Amino acid sequence: MSIKTKLLIFALCISLIPISIITTLYYFNARSTIERQTLDWLTAVAESKKVHTLSFLDSKKGRTIDFSSDGFIRDSLEAISSSETQSPVVNTLIRHLEVNKKPLDRHITAIAVLDINGNVVASTNKLWLGKDMSKATIFMSCVTKNYGETYIGKSYSVPYLNESCIFISAPLTSRQEHKTMGVIINAYDIAILDEITTKRAGMGESGEALLGMRKGDSVVFLTTLKYAPDMPLSKSVPLNSSGAKPMRLALKGEGGAIIALDYRNIDVVAAYQYIPEMDWGLVTKIDKKEVFAPITRLRIFTIILGCISAIVVIAIAIIVSKRVTKPIQKLVEGTKRIASGDLDFKIAAGSKDEIGYLAASFNDMTSQLGESKKQVEDYAQNLEQKVEDKTKEVKHMLVELTYKNKEMEQIIYVTSHDLRSPLLNIQGFSRELQQSFEQVLPVLNESGISPETREKLADALEEDIPDALKFILDSSSKMDTLLSGLLRISRMGRVVLAIKQLDMNKLISNIIGTYEYMIKEEKVKVQVGELPSCKGDNAQINQVFSNLLDNALKYLDSDREGIIRISGENKNGHIVYCLEDNGIGIVERQQTKVFEIFHRLNPAGNDVAGEGLGLTIIRKILDRHDGKIWIESEPGKGSKFFVSLPA
Ligand code: ADP
Repeated sequence: MSIKTKLLIFALCISLIPISIITTLYYFNARSTIERQTLDWLTAVAESKKVHTLSFLDSKKGRTIDFSSDGFIRDSLEAISSSETQSPVVNTLIRHLEVNKKPLDRHITAIAVLDINGNVVASTNKLWLGKDMSKATIFMSCVTKNYGETYIGKSYSVPYLNESCIFISAPLTSRQEHKTMGVIINAYDIAILDEITTKRAGMGESGEALLGMRKGDSVVFLTTLKYAPDMPLSKSVPLNSSGAKPMRLALKGEGGAIIALDYRNIDVVAAYQYIPEMDWGLVTKIDKKEVFAPITRLRIFTIILGCISAIVVIAIAIIVSKRVTKPIQKLVEGTKRIASGDLDFKIAAGSKDEIGYLAASFNDMTSQLGESKKQVEDYAQNLEQKVEDKTKEVKHMLVELTYKNKEMEQIIYVTSHDLRSPLLNIQGFSRELQQSFEQVLPVLNESGISPETREKLADALEEDIPDALKFILDSSSKMDTLLSGLLRISRMGRVVLAIKQLDMNKLISNIIGTYEYMIKEEKVKVQVGELPSCKGDNAQINQVFSNLLDNALKYLDSDREGIIRISGENKNGHIVYCLEDNGIGIVERQQTKVFEIFHRLNPAGNDVAGEGLGLTIIRKILDRHDGKIWIESEPGKGSKFFVSLPA
């Protein structure tokens, strides 16, 4: 990620994180404040509507009591109740009700005067006249009441009236005896309740107040609904539906405020109250959407603010990052040029800040680098020359060494070969001399030499001459052995190798065959594993393993049964064979020396015959085969001779 991008991300984080945290906190705080305030305010409205409803009903009750105290009505009823022929009095009573009483209250739909038997004796509504209401609750519950008391009906319709009404009744008593003579009923159009609920001042666009009552399993609304403008009492919703929750709570007798669904199934903030006198519920509500509209605006405003801040921050960050990264880019370009080898290139120092100092330091470093490079180049040139010279020297030495080696071999060969003839002469003549001396000695003894002379010659004849002759013969024989050894070694270097893939299993088996007698004699166990093949000259490699097996058999430990193991494996393209014995072993300091010519170890009690040439010959053969030999050995335990040859 480039510095520019990092700066951009950093600037965006620095600016947008606090903005988003603050606005989120502010948003939730404002939301809860608005919610709380709305709930409080709706509760207050609901309470005031409840008071308004109650006082409104009180005023209607008062009106009915007022009518029940009317002397003309009471006297007329008394007259009607006591006489047979009623029509003149009835007519004047009806006119009285229509002319003097009904106009007093514009909300009154009809007035009815009932006698003590529940018969409507006078009414402003002709349909009502003469009806028997003796079984109606509005009559029965009222006729037992005292003067000045009222009863409000819980049923809002009678079969004889078309409109739904609130019925308020009051007992009519005689003026003298205060004896109940009947009942007066005022019927108020139920739509009067709309006057209370439709006053929605301060309730916003969607605000609404509604009155409702329980009817069976439903809520029936007593007022005209804002969003369902049917007649009062015609709209109902099931009591258990989620849309009736505020009204359901109100009808349970509770008061409070909640956020719930209304009869339209729309989220509203609602307050509810119970009106126990009427068993009505009252709900005031506002659509949640309207309540939280300022919050929505705030959210949009916040998003816009966030976007604007992001744009401004990005613009500033781009400008700043360009200023910061431009010198760095120059520095990077400079380093690339320098890395490509242009050490003379200088980066413009530019600003006097850390980057400027860095550029200056970089330039210093480049100059130093240039100098060092020059030194290294000079040195490399010298070195190349030196290496070339040395290589030439080594090659020359190698040629010389090879030549000298060959010369040496030639000398050894010639010397050992040529020295053998005089040596053979010395051996021959010494033997002849010995034989002659052995012949001369008895003759001399038989001759008549004096005892004095015999005594004088005794030392020479009996000791000195035979000892000297024996010493000459022994030494010449040892010298012969050494010379023939040297001759063998020098011949080795001359043999032409016939390198081919060798079947080592067969080769080793043949060698073991030749040593079979010795193996049986010494009771040695020879174990041979599966041997991989290698490249080599059959005769020479045969020599190598014959010498090794010969040594393994020669240097066994007489205290334990001899075991010889031969194995082989392919190791990184070379075949490594191992010939292991449990013989006397070789001390560590001797393990390299045993490869030297004529070097023999003479462990105590070991008088094994040998020339000290076997391992020397092996090393020489392996050198010519690009092979190797090494030893792992422990005195008293045994030795492992490893031979590595090309695969
Ligand atoms: P030679 O066996 O004729 O003495 P070599 O060159 O074969 O000469 O061995 C040199 C010396 O290394 C031996 O004299 C012997 O002391 C020691 N040597 C060689 N092979 C073994 C072996 N398998 N165990 C112990 N000693 C060994």
